[in-house]
Amino acid sequence: MNHFPDITPRQLEAALTAIGEPGYRAAQILQWVYRKGVCDYSAMTDLPADLANRLAERLEILTGRIVARSDSPDGVVKLLIEWRDSQCIESVLIPSPSRVTACLSTQVGCAVACGFCASGMDGMQRNLSCGEIIEQLLHLRSVAESRITNVVFMGVGEPLANYANTVSAVRAIIDPERLGISARHVTVSTIGLAKQIRRLGKEGLPITLAISLHAPNDALRRQLIPGAAKTTIAEIVAAAREFYQACKREITLEYVLLKGVNDTKLCADGLARIAAQLRCNVNLIRYNPVPSLPYEAPSQGVAKAFAQRLRKCGVNAHVRRPRGCSANAACGQLRSQRTEPR
Ligand code: SAH
Repeated sequence: MNHFPDITPRQLEAALTAIGEPGYRAAQILQWVYRKGVCDYSAMTDLPADLANRLAERLEILTGRIVARSDSPDGVVKLLIEWRDSQCIESVLIPSPSRVTACLSTQVGCAVACGFCASGMDGMQRNLSCGEIIEQLLHLRSVAESRITNVVFMGVGEPLANYANTVSAVRAIIDPERLGISARHVTVSTIGLAKQIRRLGKEGLPITLAISLHAPNDALRRQLIPGAAKTTIAEIVAAAREFYQACKREITLEYVLLKGVNDTKLCADGLARIAAQLRCNVNLIRYNPVPSLPYEAPSQGVAKAFAQRLRKCGVNAHVRRPRGCSANAACGQLRSQRTEPR
Protein backbone atom coordinates (compact mmCIF):
# COMPACT_ATOMS: atom_id res chain seq x y z
CA MET A 1 0.00 0.00 0.00
CA ASN A 2 1.20 3.50 -0.77
CA HIS A 3 1.74 6.17 1.86
CA PHE A 4 -0.18 9.40 1.33
CA PRO A 5 2.51 11.84 2.55
CA ASP A 6 4.97 10.21 0.16
CA ILE A 7 3.12 11.29 -2.97
CA THR A 8 2.99 14.65 -4.68
CA PRO A 9 -0.25 16.49 -5.54
CA ARG A 10 0.33 15.67 -9.24
CA GLN A 11 0.75 11.96 -8.44
CA LEU A 12 -2.44 12.07 -6.37
CA GLU A 13 -4.32 13.69 -9.25
CA ALA A 14 -3.02 11.06 -11.66
CA ALA A 15 -3.99 8.23 -9.30
CA LEU A 16 -7.50 9.64 -8.92
CA THR A 17 -7.98 10.20 -12.64
CA ALA A 18 -6.81 6.64 -13.25
CA ILE A 19 -9.75 5.34 -11.18
CA GLY A 20 -12.18 7.65 -12.97
CA GLU A 21 -12.40 10.40 -10.37
CA PRO A 22 -12.36 14.09 -11.26
CA GLY A 23 -9.02 15.86 -10.72
CA TYR A 24 -10.47 18.32 -8.19
CA ARG A 25 -10.76 15.53 -5.65
CA ALA A 26 -7.00 15.74 -5.16
CA ALA A 27 -7.24 19.35 -3.95
CA GLN A 28 -10.10 18.39 -1.61
CA ILE A 29 -8.16 15.54 -0.03
CA LEU A 30 -4.96 17.58 0.26
CA GLN A 31 -6.93 20.28 2.08
CA TRP A 32 -8.38 17.78 4.51
CA VAL A 33 -5.07 16.22 5.38
CA TYR A 34 -2.68 19.14 5.37
CA ARG A 35 -4.92 22.08 6.24
CA LYS A 36 -7.52 20.52 8.50
CA GLY A 37 -5.42 17.68 9.91
CA VAL A 38 -8.07 15.08 9.10
CA CYS A 39 -6.26 11.78 8.53
CA ASP A 40 -9.28 9.51 8.06
CA TYR A 41 -10.91 9.40 4.59
CA SER A 42 -14.31 8.50 6.05
CA ALA A 43 -14.34 11.81 7.97
CA MET A 44 -13.82 13.83 4.77
CA THR A 45 -17.43 14.86 4.42
CA ASP A 46 -17.33 15.91 0.76
CA LEU A 47 -15.93 12.55 -0.45
CA PRO A 48 -18.31 9.86 -1.67
CA ALA A 49 -18.23 6.91 0.76
CA ASP A 50 -17.12 4.40 -1.88
CA LEU A 51 -14.16 6.59 -2.85
CA ALA A 52 -13.23 6.97 0.83
CA ASN A 53 -13.23 3.17 1.15
CA ARG A 54 -11.14 2.65 -1.97
CA LEU A 55 -8.60 5.24 -0.83
CA ALA A 56 -8.37 3.70 2.62
CA GLU A 57 -7.43 0.39 0.98
CA ARG A 58 -4.78 1.85 -1.29
CA LEU A 59 -3.29 4.98 0.19
CA GLU A 60 -2.62 5.01 3.91
CA ILE A 61 -2.36 8.42 5.51
CA LEU A 62 -0.80 7.39 8.82
CA THR A 63 1.56 4.43 9.11
CA GLY A 64 2.92 5.23 12.58
CA ARG A 65 1.28 5.65 15.97
CA ILE A 66 2.10 7.69 19.03
CA VAL A 67 3.31 5.25 21.71
CA ALA A 68 4.58 7.72 24.31
CA ARG A 69 4.20 11.38 25.05
CA SER A 70 6.20 13.51 27.40
CA ASP A 71 5.14 17.03 28.33
CA SER A 72 7.35 19.58 29.96
CA PRO A 73 6.05 22.51 32.01
CA ASP A 74 7.24 25.02 29.40
CA GLY A 75 4.80 23.55 26.89
CA VAL A 76 7.21 21.37 24.93
CA VAL A 77 5.63 18.10 23.86
CA LYS A 78 7.75 15.19 22.80
CA LEU A 79 6.21 12.27 20.95
CA LEU A 80 7.57 8.81 20.47
CA ILE A 81 6.22 7.42 17.18
CA GLU A 82 6.36 3.74 16.37
CA TRP A 83 6.35 2.49 12.77
CA ARG A 84 5.05 -0.87 11.60
CA ASP A 85 8.51 -2.43 11.84
CA SER A 86 8.49 -1.55 15.57
CA GLN A 87 11.20 1.07 15.09
CA CYS A 88 10.61 4.27 17.06
CA ILE A 89 11.53 7.87 16.44
CA GLU A 90 11.03 11.13 18.30
CA SER A 91 9.29 14.30 17.19
CA VAL A 92 9.02 17.43 19.28
CA LEU A 93 6.63 20.37 19.36
CA ILE A 94 8.10 23.57 20.77
CA PRO A 95 5.51 26.32 21.23
CA SER A 96 6.56 29.88 22.02
CA PRO A 97 4.56 33.12 22.01
CA SER A 98 5.66 33.99 18.49
CA ARG A 99 5.86 30.59 16.79
CA VAL A 100 5.16 26.89 17.02
CA THR A 101 8.16 24.84 15.97
CA ALA A 102 8.15 21.19 14.97
CA CYS A 103 11.40 19.30 15.35
CA LEU A 104 11.60 16.28 13.05
CA SER A 105 13.72 13.13 12.92
CA THR A 106 15.13 11.86 9.63
CA GLN A 107 16.59 8.49 10.58
CA VAL A 108 15.99 5.73 13.12
CA GLY A 109 19.14 6.19 15.18
CA CYS A 110 22.17 7.95 13.81
CA ALA A 111 25.44 6.74 12.33
CA VAL A 112 27.42 9.85 13.23
CA ALA A 113 27.46 8.97 16.93
CA CYS A 114 28.59 12.26 18.47
CA GLY A 115 30.13 11.40 21.84
CA PHE A 116 27.74 13.67 23.79
CA CYS A 117 24.47 12.80 22.02
CA ALA A 118 21.90 10.14 22.91
CA SER A 119 20.68 9.66 19.33
CA GLY A 120 23.56 7.58 18.05
CA MET A 121 24.14 5.40 21.09
CA ASP A 122 22.64 2.34 19.36
CA GLY A 123 23.91 3.17 15.87
CA MET A 124 21.70 3.71 12.84
CA GLN A 125 18.83 1.33 12.05
CA ARG A 126 17.39 2.84 8.88
CA ASN A 127 16.45 5.98 6.99
CA LEU A 128 12.96 7.39 7.31
CA SER A 129 11.01 7.68 4.07
CA CYS A 130 9.88 11.10 2.91
CA GLY A 131 6.36 10.10 3.98
CA GLU A 132 7.53 9.18 7.47
CA ILE A 133 9.31 12.52 7.83
CA ILE A 134 6.14 14.38 6.80
CA GLU A 135 3.86 12.15 8.85
CA GLN A 136 5.57 13.41 12.01
CA LEU A 137 4.03 16.82 11.26
CA LEU A 138 0.58 15.27 11.07
CA HIS A 139 1.03 13.68 14.52
CA LEU A 140 2.51 16.86 15.99
CA ARG A 141 -0.33 18.95 14.68
CA SER A 142 -2.79 16.61 16.37
CA VAL A 143 -1.32 17.65 19.74
CA ALA A 144 -0.66 21.31 18.87
CA GLU A 145 -2.95 24.07 20.09
CA SER A 146 -2.18 26.30 17.14
CA ARG A 147 -0.76 26.08 13.65
CA ILE A 148 2.81 24.85 13.20
CA THR A 149 4.76 27.80 11.83
CA ASN A 150 8.36 26.55 11.80
CA VAL A 151 10.09 23.26 11.08
CA VAL A 152 13.57 22.26 12.16
CA PHE A 153 15.30 19.06 11.08
CA MET A 154 17.00 18.68 14.45
CA GLY A 155 15.58 15.43 15.75
CA VAL A 156 17.25 12.06 15.59
CA GLY A 157 19.43 11.32 12.55
CA GLU A 158 21.60 13.15 10.09
CA PRO A 159 19.28 14.75 7.51
CA LEU A 160 21.89 15.06 4.79
CA ALA A 161 22.82 11.37 5.13
CA ASN A 162 19.21 10.72 4.07
CA TYR A 163 19.47 13.35 1.39
CA ALA A 164 16.76 12.55 -1.16
CA ASN A 165 14.04 11.91 1.42
CA THR A 166 14.96 15.03 3.39
CA VAL A 167 14.83 17.23 0.29
CA SER A 168 11.49 15.73 -0.83
CA ALA A 169 10.15 16.35 2.67
CA VAL A 170 11.31 19.98 2.58
CA ARG A 171 9.54 20.40 -0.77
CA ALA A 172 6.32 19.03 0.73
CA ILE A 173 6.63 21.29 3.76
CA ILE A 174 6.97 24.46 1.68
CA ASP A 175 4.51 23.45 -1.04
CA PRO A 176 1.42 25.71 -0.82
CA GLU A 177 -0.75 22.75 -1.87
CA ARG A 178 0.58 20.68 1.02
CA LEU A 179 1.89 22.08 4.33
CA GLY A 180 2.51 25.56 2.97
CA ILE A 181 5.12 26.61 5.55
CA SER A 182 7.43 29.39 4.41
CA ALA A 183 10.88 28.14 3.36
CA ARG A 184 12.33 30.86 5.56
CA HIS A 185 10.88 29.05 8.53
CA VAL A 186 12.50 25.72 7.69
CA THR A 187 15.93 24.80 9.06
CA VAL A 188 17.96 21.75 8.07
CA SER A 189 20.68 20.95 10.57
CA THR A 190 23.71 18.90 9.59
CA ILE A 191 26.88 17.61 11.13
CA GLY A 192 28.58 19.14 8.10
CA LEU A 193 28.59 16.77 5.13
CA ALA A 194 30.36 19.09 2.72
CA LYS A 195 29.34 17.47 -0.57
CA GLN A 196 25.68 17.34 0.42
CA ILE A 197 25.75 20.95 1.67
CA ARG A 198 26.87 22.05 -1.79
CA ARG A 199 24.23 19.90 -3.42
CA LEU A 200 21.55 21.33 -1.13
CA GLY A 201 22.59 24.83 -2.14
CA LYS A 202 21.82 23.95 -5.76
CA GLU A 203 18.26 22.75 -4.99
CA GLY A 204 16.98 26.33 -5.02
CA LEU A 205 15.33 26.04 -1.60
CA PRO A 206 15.64 29.29 0.42
CA ILE A 207 15.84 27.44 3.74
CA THR A 208 18.21 27.96 6.65
CA LEU A 209 21.19 25.67 6.89
CA ALA A 210 22.42 24.98 10.41
CA ILE A 211 25.80 23.35 10.90
CA SER A 212 26.65 21.54 14.12
CA LEU A 213 30.22 22.68 14.55
CA HIS A 214 30.77 22.13 18.30
CA ALA A 215 34.54 22.61 18.15
CA PRO A 216 36.88 25.37 16.95
CA ASN A 217 39.54 23.04 15.55
CA ASP A 218 39.72 19.69 13.77
CA ALA A 219 41.52 17.86 16.57
CA LEU A 220 38.82 18.58 19.16
CA ARG A 221 36.08 18.07 16.60
CA ARG A 222 37.40 14.61 15.71
CA GLN A 223 37.39 13.75 19.38
CA LEU A 224 33.78 14.86 19.93
CA ILE A 225 32.42 13.69 16.58
CA PRO A 226 34.47 10.72 15.39
CA GLY A 227 31.81 9.93 12.80
CA ALA A 228 32.52 13.21 10.98
CA ALA A 229 36.30 12.98 11.21
CA LYS A 230 36.78 12.78 7.45
CA THR A 231 35.52 16.32 6.84
CA THR A 232 37.67 19.21 8.01
CA ILE A 233 36.31 22.49 9.30
CA ALA A 234 37.92 24.22 6.30
CA GLU A 235 35.92 21.96 3.94
CA ILE A 236 32.73 22.67 5.86
CA VAL A 237 33.33 26.42 5.72
CA ALA A 238 34.01 26.28 1.97
CA ALA A 239 30.78 24.32 1.39
CA ALA A 240 28.80 26.71 3.63
CA ARG A 241 30.12 29.67 1.65
CA GLU A 242 28.91 28.02 -1.55
CA PHE A 243 25.52 27.43 0.06
CA TYR A 244 25.36 31.11 0.99
CA GLN A 245 26.31 32.16 -2.54
CA ALA A 246 23.54 29.98 -3.97
CA CYS A 247 20.74 30.70 -1.47
CA LYS A 248 21.70 34.06 0.07
CA ARG A 249 20.54 32.74 3.42
CA GLU A 250 22.72 33.28 6.47
CA ILE A 251 24.15 30.09 7.93
CA THR A 252 23.55 29.09 11.55
CA LEU A 253 26.51 27.60 13.39
CA GLU A 254 25.42 25.41 16.28
CA TYR A 255 27.80 24.96 19.15
CA VAL A 256 26.94 22.80 22.16
CA LEU A 257 28.83 24.09 25.18
CA LEU A 258 30.43 21.24 27.12
CA LYS A 259 31.94 22.13 30.48
CA GLY A 260 35.73 22.18 30.42
CA VAL A 261 35.81 20.73 26.90
CA ASN A 262 34.96 23.43 24.36
CA ASP A 263 33.90 26.38 26.53
CA THR A 264 37.24 28.13 27.06
CA LYS A 265 38.24 31.62 25.92
CA LEU A 266 40.65 30.04 23.46
CA CYS A 267 37.76 28.04 21.98
CA ALA A 268 35.65 31.21 21.70
CA ASP A 269 38.45 32.95 19.82
CA GLY A 270 38.87 29.96 17.50
CA LEU A 271 35.12 29.86 16.86
CA ALA A 272 35.13 33.62 16.16
CA ARG A 273 37.79 33.12 13.49
CA ILE A 274 35.66 30.47 11.79
CA ALA A 275 32.49 32.55 12.03
CA ALA A 276 34.32 35.52 10.50
CA GLN A 277 34.63 33.55 7.26
CA LEU A 278 30.87 33.19 6.89
CA ARG A 279 27.69 35.22 6.88
CA CYS A 280 26.37 33.47 9.95
CA ASN A 281 24.72 33.46 13.36
CA VAL A 282 26.13 31.37 16.16
CA ASN A 283 23.70 29.47 18.38
CA LEU A 284 25.25 28.42 21.66
CA ILE A 285 23.43 25.60 23.41
CA ARG A 286 24.28 24.68 26.98
CA TYR A 287 24.63 20.92 27.05
CA ASN A 288 21.56 19.01 28.14
CA PRO A 289 23.16 16.16 30.12
CA VAL A 290 22.52 12.60 29.01
CA PRO A 291 22.70 10.00 31.77
CA SER A 292 25.63 7.63 31.18
CA LEU A 293 27.59 10.14 29.07
CA PRO A 294 30.58 11.89 30.64
CA TYR A 295 29.74 15.47 29.70
CA GLU A 296 28.36 18.34 31.75
CA ALA A 297 26.88 21.75 31.02
CA PRO A 298 28.88 24.86 31.83
CA SER A 299 27.26 27.43 34.12
CA GLN A 300 24.98 30.07 32.68
CA GLY A 301 27.72 32.62 33.48
CA VAL A 302 30.35 30.78 31.44
CA ALA A 303 27.92 30.46 28.52
CA LYS A 304 27.13 34.18 28.64
CA ALA A 305 30.80 35.13 28.80
CA PHE A 306 31.50 32.85 25.82
CA ALA A 307 28.77 34.60 23.82
CA GLN A 308 30.05 38.00 24.90
CA ARG A 309 33.55 37.17 23.73
CA LEU A 310 32.20 36.15 20.32
CA ARG A 311 30.18 39.35 20.06
CA LYS A 312 33.26 41.43 20.89
CA CYS A 313 34.85 39.85 17.82
CA GLY A 314 31.86 41.00 15.75
CA VAL A 315 30.08 37.64 15.67
CA ASN A 316 26.32 37.49 16.04
CA ALA A 317 26.03 34.98 18.89
CA HIS A 318 23.24 33.97 21.26
CA VAL A 319 22.83 31.46 24.04
CA ARG A 320 19.70 29.53 23.19
CA ARG A 321 17.19 28.96 25.91
CA PRO A 322 16.95 25.23 26.53
CA ARG A 323 13.38 24.07 26.01
CA GLY A 324 11.76 20.95 27.31
CA CYS A 325 14.69 19.90 29.49
CA SER A 326 12.50 18.14 31.98
CA ALA A 327 10.90 16.07 29.21
CA ASN A 328 13.97 14.07 28.21
CA ALA A 329 14.34 16.63 25.51
CA ALA A 330 17.94 16.12 24.49
CA CYS A 331 18.05 14.30 21.19
CA GLY A 332 17.23 10.67 21.37
CA GLN A 333 16.60 10.50 25.10
CA LEU A 334 12.97 9.43 25.03
CA ARG A 335 13.79 6.80 22.48
CA SER A 336 16.83 5.49 24.30
CA GLN A 337 14.78 5.23 27.49
CA ARG A 338 12.29 3.05 25.72
CA THR A 339 14.89 0.78 24.19
CA GLU A 340 16.73 0.37 27.48
CA PRO A 341 16.24 -3.06 28.99
CA ARG A 342 13.68 -2.86 31.75
N1 SAH B 1 22.51 15.35 12.89
C1 SAH B 1 22.12 16.72 12.74
C2 SAH B 1 20.73 16.96 13.26
C3 SAH B 1 20.60 16.89 14.78
S1 SAH B 1 20.33 18.50 15.34
C4 SAH B 1 23.14 17.63 13.35
O1 SAH B 1 24.06 17.12 13.98
O2 SAH B 1 23.07 18.83 13.15
C5 SAH B 1 20.43 18.34 17.01
C6 SAH B 1 21.42 19.31 17.61
O3 SAH B 1 21.43 19.11 19.04
C7 SAH B 1 22.83 19.06 17.12
O4 SAH B 1 23.54 20.25 17.05
C8 SAH B 1 23.36 18.18 18.22
O5 SAH B 1 24.74 18.16 18.26
C9 SAH B 1 22.74 18.82 19.45
N2 SAH B 1 22.69 17.92 20.62
C10 SAH B 1 22.73 16.60 20.65
N3 SAH B 1 22.66 16.15 21.92
C11 SAH B 1 22.57 17.24 22.70
C12 SAH B 1 22.47 17.43 24.10
N4 SAH B 1 22.45 16.41 24.94
N5 SAH B 1 22.41 18.70 24.57
C13 SAH B 1 22.41 19.75 23.72
N6 SAH B 1 22.47 19.62 22.37
C14 SAH B 1 22.58 18.38 21.88
